[in-house]
Amino acid sequence: MSALIQPTPRAQAFFDAPHRLLIGGEWVEGRAEPIAVENPSRNEHLTTVDAASDEDVDRAVAAARVALNGPWGRMSGRERAGILFRFADLLDANAEEIAEAMAYDNGQSLAACTGIVRVLACEIIRYYAGWATKIAGDSFLPSLGGARANTQFMVSTLREPIGVVAAIVPWNAPAGMMGLKLGPALATGCTVVLKTAELAPLTGEFFGRFFLEAGGPPGVLNILHGLGHETGAAMARHPGVDKISFTGSPVAGRSIVQAAAGNLKKVTLELGGKSPIIVFPDADLDALVPATALACFVASGQACMAATRLFAHADIYDELVQRVADHADALTIGDSLEPGIFLGPLISARQRARVEDYIRTGIAEGARVANRNGFVPWEGAGNFVRPIVFADATADMRIAQEEIFGPVLTAIRFDDEAAMLRDVNSTTYGLSGSVWTNDITRALRVARQVDSGQVGINVHAAVSPETPFGGNRESGWGREFGEEGLLPYLKTKAISINLGPRD
Ligand code: NAD
Repeated sequence: MSALIQPTPRAQAFFDAPHRLLIGGEWVEGRAEPIAVENPSRNEHLTTVDAASDEDVDRAVAAARVALNGPWGRMSGRERAGILFRFADLLDANAEEIAEAMAYDNGQSLAACTGIVRVLACEIIRYYAGWATKIAGDSFLPSLGGARANTQFMVSTLREPIGVVAAIVPWNAPAGMMGLKLGPALATGCTVVLKTAELAPLTGEFFGRFFLEAGGPPGVLNILHGLGHETGAAMARHPGVDKISFTGSPVAGRSIVQAAAGNLKKVTLELGGKSPIIVFPDADLDALVPATALACFVASGQACMAATRLFAHADIYDELVQRVADHADALTIGDSLEPGIFLGPLISARQRARVEDYIRTGIAEGARVANRNGFVPWEGAGNFVRPIVFADATADMRIAQEEIFGPVLTAIRFDDEAAMLRDVNSTTYGLSGSVWTNDITRALRVARQVDSGQVGINVHAAVSPETPFGGNRESGWGREFGEEGLLPYLKTKAISINLGPRD
């Protein structure tokens, strides 16, 4: 690792500035205990952000309700689209500044963070800006019986914004997650109270700043920082919130569902994963080796759709697993601001300890570390974990069942397709997956039987704004992206019109 990289003067000025909450168009002090933010590449203090108390949550929800009933609620789709396109353009124009702050607080490489802002956040907001002018209902002639059988009716349906949305995002790709929540919520005309993740909160301020600069009315987007079990929980149980859009862990997802029961809020959940890569002997191994490493070790394995289980056919298992392990050994690790790094640190010392415990568990369970030097814990500052490839694992091991959220790949040998598919579907998760073969019949047969929200054929995690994304089983409720991602922010009203007696 090279010498310590210093923030640019612009980033340093940002870190040194106060980090307030955006409520009703004003940046205000939070009334809860402020939160210290650390640079995970160095375990050094970066800055401190204000946090929202229950009272701050009340004020933000009230501001969002006022905005819903104000000029925003009366705007045409074209006007909302105009604001959203300007919003995306401002984020795009300032992507490098946003990405630098994000790289410092979440530890992912500057190149990855820039991509998350430009390719994920901006493109999603633009995609949903396009939808703002295309939200339409339906008209039809219903069939009524009984005393109304001789009367003609027409039904016209309207799609209306669901109301005040509480959006809660995780730390692993904060800008992408914010774009994904804000794009559909704002395109449909909802108003939002968004809580950043306490481990990487800084990106949220840019979204608040540029939304206002794009002409977004005050109160339409409110940004809070705060702890999950305090600020997040207060949002989840708040009677003034109509819908929660949550991305995070299944544990938090469960408590949100319980808290939302009070006023029966609508809830969408994007939770964890334990996604498989399934490889048949005819797959192109030259392409597969780097693709597997990318799919598993991207963001140091801290990605919900990371391919963390490699199901390789016995004919190619030994060769593939060793090549992936050698590839993993050659990946560059370092400070998130260091040019050319592939793996940055994990988000926190706690997460690093948790991942290392899983590696020790895998060894104790009898899996073999295929990396040439075995498991070598990182020495020195930063929450780094070298990528690990476990060979000779079985599908029932904890390292093959539980979400580790670190750079750990578990490789399982198979020769029987049906047994392999039972193992693939044996976890509580069902988020993503991929099948690698040049036999299209086999590819489609297997893809159909993988119980997950999305499956790639000769590609893993091909995320795009148009493609529905979400999880089965404990990986979540509902879908984001595409038209399906718009629907949870809308409620349908059916207006029945009496046209008089039938002739
Ligand atoms: P987390 O659940 O601890 O935190 C996520 C967010 O929820 C944070 O903002 C946190 O403050 C908040 N939160 C925590 N407890 C809460 C509660 N009781 N009430 C309300 N809010 C609460 O998750 P994390 O550790 O930040 O992120 C990792 C998890 O997120 C992994 O399981 C990962 O798979 C998942 N994830 C899923 C997707 C997806 O799209 N499916 C994307 C990214 C991350």
